[in-house]
Amino acid sequence: MHDVIVVGARCAGATVAMLLARRGYRVLCVDQASFPRDAVSTHMLRQGGLARLRDWGLLDRLIATGCTPITSITMSYGDARFAGFADPIDGIAETYAPRRIVLDALLQDAARAAGVDLREGITVLDLVREGETVTGIVGRDRDGHLVTEHARLVIGADGYASTVAKLTGAEKYEVIAGETFTAYSYWTGLDIQSQLRIGDEQAVGGWPTHDGKTLIWCVQYVDRFAEFRTDVERNFHLAFKETAPDLAELLDSGERAERFTIARYPENFYRESHGPGWALVGDAGYHKDPFTGLGISDAFTYADLLAERAHEGLSGARPLSEALADYQAQRDKSSKPMYRFTCESSRLVLPDKHVEVMRALPSSPAHTTQWFRMMAGGLSGREFFAEANMRALFDAAGRKSS
Ligand SMILES: Cc1cc2nc3c(=O)[nH]c(=O)nc-3n(C[C@H](O)[C@H](O)[C@H](O)COP(=O)(O)OP(=O)(O)OC[C@H]3O[C@@H](n4cnc5c(N)ncnc54)[C@H](O)[C@@H]3O)c2cc1C
Repeated sequence: MHDVIVVGARCAGATVAMLLARRGYRVLCVDQASFPRDAVSTHMLRQGGLARLRDWGLLDRLIATGCTPITSITMSYGDARFAGFADPIDGIAETYAPRRIVLDALLQDAARAAGVDLREGITVLDLVREGETVTGIVGRDRDGHLVTEHARLVIGADGYASTVAKLTGAEKYEVIAGETFTAYSYWTGLDIQSQLRIGDEQAVGGWPTHDGKTLIWCVQYVDRFAEFRTDVERNFHLAFKETAPDLAELLDSGERAERFTIARYPENFYRESHGPGWALVGDAGYHKDPFTGLGISDAFTYADLLAERAHEGLSGARPLSEALADYQAQRDKSSKPMYRFTCESSRLVLPDKHVEVMRALPSSPAHTTQWFRMMAGGLSGREFFAEANMRALFDAAGRKSS
């Protein structure tokens, strides 16, 4: 009998398992995958996520893996172009884009070091129940044997297509359709910092990762998906030529070092994330378009919150059901502004007001810093777009505030 079973062993699962084991709980964490195994991702780890890693004693380990620090972003939207970076958020002055094969292994090692029984190659197929309450899992191991395990709490950290969510019947809410797809690969021979260029219903960009490799990506509307796939190489370069000709030239000076990965983005949603004996965390409970690069950082933030609330319930400090309801309510409240911002900006057509602001930003380094702070989740849209702040920006740009 375990205290907690976590299904899924990546950003959300390995993390919540580690945090509960560090509090003294007996934790089993299972994943259908065998690691090390890469994940589809563009890797951006924001300041909020890095601050959590620092708090858990893992940031220095990540930096020691040789991941290139990112301290500058060049952004453009049509003729508006500017560069800068957020001032330190939560004491973190740079970002990183670690390969998932490195990041996930680091989290899994930390979970095992904390005492988690982390088992690979186990696919969860069903839940064990006593009445309405979930009390365990039924899975199949690599040899095809059925495995049944029991716990006081089962946490689904098994991604946006969560099996635990399906088995508990957890309902989605605030659903917003996914409208885009991405294609990406890795280049050697480039020396660039973060690039984010938005053009005519498409975006291109890139940033450094590990081993001298630079991730290079493009995003387009899903109605171009079928045509894009007929000639990925050509269409990828065309997207750069149309959106950021300077970057298109730069790509020609380097060399593509890996095959292309192409992925359609699923819909954005929240899911009911708790019930008798179970909870959801990470993409399983709250999934959004990767455009703002917040999925991993949010997985850390809400794994932390869930571990705290689960501890309250499991230790008897308050009823578990009340503590888990509080987890969901707090997660929803604190994530909602960036959820909306992410869903809006991932449409790749920004409101006129934002475009005017972006055109004015090169005149004000202070506002440019604020803009990047807002994009990283360190400043609310309400604060940034406040009337007095906009007046100061447009004054700096020598224009009249509208
Ligand atoms: C193209 C793309 C680009 C992205 N770029 C970024 C980015 O730049 N920055 C960012 O922060 N986020 C990005 N994201 C989002 C980010 O990858 C996710 O938010 C993050 O991986 C969520 O972590 P998770 O642990 O919740 O789920 P996952 O990483 O999906 O892990 C779920 C795990 O559960 C396991 N599992 C599933 N079902 C079962 C089962 N039945 N039994 C056992 N195990 C199971 C899987 O094997 C998997 O290992 C991107 C996503 C995509 C698709």
